[in-house]
Amino acid sequence: MNIVMFGPPGAGKGTQSENLVKDFNLFKVSAGDLLREEAKNNSSLGTKIKNIIDRGLLVSDDIIDDLIEKTLCNKNYFNKLIFDGYPRNLNQAKHLDLLIKKYNQRISCVLSLKIEKDIIIKRILGRIICSKCKLTFNEYFYPPTKENHKCNLKFLTKRSDDNKQTVENRLETYTKKTSQVLNYYQNQKLLYEIDGMSDISNIYKEIRQIIHSLET
Ligand code: AMP
Repeated sequence: MNIVMFGPPGAGKGTQSENLVKDFNLFKVSAGDLLREEAKNNSSLGTKIKNIIDRGLLVSDDIIDDLIEKTLCNKNYFNKLIFDGYPRNLNQAKHLDLLIKKYNQRISCVLSLKIEKDIIIKRILGRIICSKCKLTFNEYFYPPTKENHKCNLKFLTKRSDDNKQTVENRLETYTKKTSQVLNYYQNQKLLYEIDGMSDISNIYKEIRQIIHSLET
């Protein structure tokens, strides 16, 4: 099954996707990670992408659409992808439908994590990522400990766009562009709304129930 993980920045899409990857033998494709990888290149495209990410705006559709297609067409991931952070506007949602058709696959569900703005801001500003194992922690809600994290502390980092000004821009972008995608999927009867405010394990329990209900 292919799953679209949906929600505002900081909703926990990445964390819940990682849980699904482990339990359901799936692969996560994070649009943000793909773009951050591109941004590391010292090319003019890399610099352009970094600039847009740091301003909290959306990178142009053709850039991200191409990166997504490169993953989607890989036979190893056939019908086994979790899309995290894609699609983020209506054109991308329509483009994903074209790609899904082109490669003879299907979207099984869209999981939308709902969360209030003040919690989003705290989650984003407290976010810590391990650059080695890629796990995400939070200095307020879920700090890294010896039990939940095995890598050296030197790998713990913060994203350059996880600051107060950029967060405001990212939330505005979400409200203006990304939230329209919800109706699109609701009309296709693919949308499942989940309370993203409870703790990680409870949210995941709900997600697992949805996935199991789709499998039977
Ligand atoms: P994320 O890691 O999902 O929080 O994304 C970080 C940033 O990458 C966003 O604020 C955008 O600047 C850019 N980005 C991520 N996904 C997309 C997308 N689907 N379309 C355009 N830009 C994106």
